[in-house]
Amino acid sequence: MRVHNFNAGPAALPLPVLERVQAELPDLHHTGMSVMEWSHRSKQFETINQDAENGLKRLLGLSEDWTVLFLQGGASLQFSMVPMNLLQGGAKADYLVHGSWGRKAIAEAKKEGAARTAASTENADWKRVPLQSEFDLNPSAKYVHFTSNETIEGVQWPGEPETGGIPLVCDASSDILSRPIAAEKYGLIYGGAQKNIGPSGVTVVAIRRDWIEPIPQIPTMLAYATHAKEHSLYNTPPTFGIYMIGLVCEWIESLGGVAGMQNRNTAKANALYAQIDSTDFYAGFAEKENRSQMNITFRLPSEELEAWFATEATKAGFIGLKGHRSVGGLRASLYNAVELKSVMALVEFMREFERVHG
Ligand SMILES: *Cc1c(COP(=O)(O)O)cnc(C)c1O
Repeated sequence: MRVHNFNAGPAALPLPVLERVQAELPDLHHTGMSVMEWSHRSKQFETINQDAENGLKRLLGLSEDWTVLFLQGGASLQFSMVPMNLLQGGAKADYLVHGSWGRKAIAEAKKEGAARTAASTENADWKRVPLQSEFDLNPSAKYVHFTSNETIEGVQWPGEPETGGIPLVCDASSDILSRPIAAEKYGLIYGGAQKNIGPSGVTVVAIRRDWIEPIPQIPTMLAYATHAKEHSLYNTPPTFGIYMIGLVCEWIESLGGVAGMQNRNTAKANALYAQIDSTDFYAGFAEKENRSQMNITFRLPSEELEAWFATEATKAGFIGLKGHRSVGGLRASLYNAVELKSVMALVEFMREFERVHG
């Protein structure tokens, strides 16, 4: 029996993908082995690796000028690797900060190079993204970093920030492949796989090839050039996660690609926000224009009611609704794999909860 899974990450995966993994597990492609037992140096694994990269490139709309790396250490390690690799030789970077993950990204970047905050919404309690008029961009910056979706606050950029041609670097951990992007505006896109595209343990880094340079003075394992040269096989990669990313990409393509995902995600988010807005009992956290389609954050009239809501919801088969420990409240994560029927069931539960406790 599957539950309604609203976990923030690791999170729901598509049932058809899980069922396929289950069927293929003991004997993948008539090798008599599971993918976890294959050598990462085998011909068969090379195909899996290439399929996953191709799937991501097609779905992200990336040209041949790009490469996709499968690394470890999570998005959190990218907070350091990005500036370590890109801010050599006095290069500077600007960061647009509107929530918890962006704050971590800029804090790590400052340890590695000339990174500064070019806009922040701290004064707006992180309830929205910075306005274009609030940007203080350095025209000679190498990149502008932004967090496309702040997972904890539930605040998402409606589209790419306008930088006047400075390439974007994006932490897309919690909305990658959830909607189309304007790929030509980016130089690098990264994310942990465990929210929208696979299991934990694999980190995706898509990078423009002309940004990859050998940097002998940084640790070999932390240089993009090391992994790009060896097609993510410099050392043992997270093979199972890469295999699953390939399957998730196939699943997304079977449902109309990222445009199909966006339609599904908009329908789900609209249904939940409509319920939140229909009554004073529930209150959305984010400002309406910047509400996330992935992480819906909301409050109830008291912390007691919020705790009770989470408990009752779990009993009724709705998992993962407690907000992040740093902000409290409630959060429903509606990643690609979450079905509309789960959201409609949650809306029904919320109506009933309000009827009894409101
Ligand atoms: C979850 C998350 C992270 C942290 O990811 P790890 O893979 O756990 O390091 C970073 N940024 C965003 C936007 C996230 O949602």
